[in-house]
Amino acid sequence: MCVTDRIEYPSTQLFINGQWRDAADGRTIDVIDPATGEVVGKVAHATRADLDAALAAAERGFAIWSATSAYDRAKTMRRAAELLRQRADRIAVIMTREQGKPVVEARMETLAAADIIEWFAEEARRTYGQVVPARAPGVTQMVLKLPVGPVAAFTPWNFPINQVVRKLSAAVAAGCSIIVKAPEETPASPAELIRVFVDAGIPEGVVNLVYGVPAEISEYLIPHPVIRKISFTGSTPVGKQLAALAGAHMKLATMELGGHAPALVFDDGDVGKAVKVLAGSKFRNAGQVCVSPTRFLVQDGVYDGFLEAFTDAARAIKVGNGLEEGVQMGPLANERRIPALETLVNDAVSRGADLKLGGRRIGNEGNFFEPTVLANVPTDARIMNEEPFGPVAIVNRFSTVEEAIAEANRLPYGLASYAFTRSTETADALGKRIVAGMTTINHNGLALPEVHFGGVRDSGYGSEGGTEAINAYLTPKLVSLSAG
Ligand code: NAD
Repeated sequence: MCVTDRIEYPSTQLFINGQWRDAADGRTIDVIDPATGEVVGKVAHATRADLDAALAAAERGFAIWSATSAYDRAKTMRRAAELLRQRADRIAVIMTREQGKPVVEARMETLAAADIIEWFAEEARRTYGQVVPARAPGVTQMVLKLPVGPVAAFTPWNFPINQVVRKLSAAVAAGCSIIVKAPEETPASPAELIRVFVDAGIPEGVVNLVYGVPAEISEYLIPHPVIRKISFTGSTPVGKQLAALAGAHMKLATMELGGHAPALVFDDGDVGKAVKVLAGSKFRNAGQVCVSPTRFLVQDGVYDGFLEAFTDAARAIKVGNGLEEGVQMGPLANERRIPALETLVNDAVSRGADLKLGGRRIGNEGNFFEPTVLANVPTDARIMNEEPFGPVAIVNRFSTVEEAIAEANRLPYGLASYAFTRSTETADALGKRIVAGMTTINHNGLALPEVHFGGVRDSGYGSEGGTEAINAYLTPKLVSLSAG
C-alpha cells in the first residue's frame, strides 16, 4: 500500500458564516475521479436560502474585516500560508483524485498557493494612498484606498486551488469579504484552501464557499446589492455573459478568460531549450491551462528539427493515473473534453493537417487522451481558431518576423505568448508588438505571484498578479480636510 491509498477523499460541504454545513435541502452533486470514472465523493449543492445566508454573512464579514488593520490581516494570511504548506502532501492527493493531474503537479500548485497568499499578505501592508498638495492653506487632501466591498468569485476546475487563491488572497488582503463559487468537479481541494484560512483565525463571514449550478449562482449573486465586485476565470463566452451582467449592475469585474497562445521559435533561438520548455508547458495539466502554448510557429530553418524533437518529447510523456509514480500527464478533468478534442483533431486532418502523433482517447476507463501533435494546420481549421484546452500542439511554419507577428496577433485572444530567439532586436519587437497580456522570451516566466497575470481583448481584463492585482479590490476615496 502506498501513502496515497491511506488518504481518503472527503465529501465537501458549504462554508457559510464560519460554519461547514450541508445544503439547506440536503442536495449533493457526485464527484468523479477522472482517472477511473468512479464516484469518489459528493459536494453540497447550495439552494437560494444558502446563497442568501452567504450574502448576509459576507455583509457582516465585510464590516468586521474592513475595520481590521492591514497588519493583522497580513498576520492571519501568513498563518494560513504556513498551514497550507504543512498540509500540502494530503491536499495534493485529494486534488489528484478529483482533477487528475499528477500528484507532483498538485503538490506544486498547493505550495505555489502558499507563496501567493504570502505575497498578498505583504501587499496588504502597502495599499498606499496619496496626499495631494492643496490649493488652500490649512487643507489636507488625502486619497485613501478602501476595500471595495463583498466579492463574488467564480473559479474553474483546471487549477482547483490556484484559481481560487489569487482572488481570495487579493480580496482578503484588501479587507474585502468573499463568496467563492468553486468548481463542482473539483470541490474538495479548494475547500481545504478555505479551511486553512478558517484555522488561521479569519473571522466568521469573511470567507464563504458555495457550489451548485454555476449559472444559477452567478445570476443571483452578481446583481445582488451586497456584492460590489466580481472575478471570473473560465471560458470567453461565459466571461462575456458575466461581464455584461456585472456592467448592467455597475459592478467592478476582473475577467481571466481563454487564450490560444502563440509560441514563436526563430532560426536564431535555442531549439533544444525551446522543445524542453514548450513541451513541459504544453502537456502540463494535460494542456488544460489558459496560458498553454497552442500555436507553435517555427521558422523555416529550424522547422523540421523542432517538429521532430518536439514530437519525440511528446511521445515520451508517461500518461496515467496521476497518483502513480512517474506519471507525467493525467486524464482530462471532464469526459466532455474528449469528444471536443477528437472533433477538433479530425476537423484539422480533414482540412489537410498532418497528424504526427496521438489524436485519440486512450483506453475506455477514465478520460485519457494521447499527447497530440498536428503539423501544417491550415488557418481555417477550427483548432487554429478555437482554444483546444487539451494536450494538442499545432506546429506550423513561418519565414519572416513580420509573418510570425501577424499570425500571433490574428486571433481575438491575447493572454500568453512565448518566443525563443537570441536576437535582441527580434525580442524587443515581440515584447512590444505581440498583442497579449504576457510575453515570455527564452523561458517560461509566467504566473509568479509578483508579476502581472492577465489578458487583453477576448482573453479578458484586469490582473491577478503583481502590484496591480490588489487594486482590483480597492476603491479610491478622497478625504479633503480643512483645519480651519
Ligand atoms: P464552460 O464554459 O462550461 O465552463 C468554464 C468554467 O466556467 C467552469 O468552471 C464553469 O463552472 C464556469 N461557468 C460556466 N457557466 C457559468 C456561469 N453562467 N456562471 C458562472 N460560472 C460559469 O467550459 P468547460 O467545458 O468547463 O471548459 C472548457 C472551456 O472553458 C475551455 O475551452 C476553456 O476555454 C475554458 N476554461 C478556461 C479556464 C481558464 O483558466 N481561463 C479554465 C477552465 C475552463
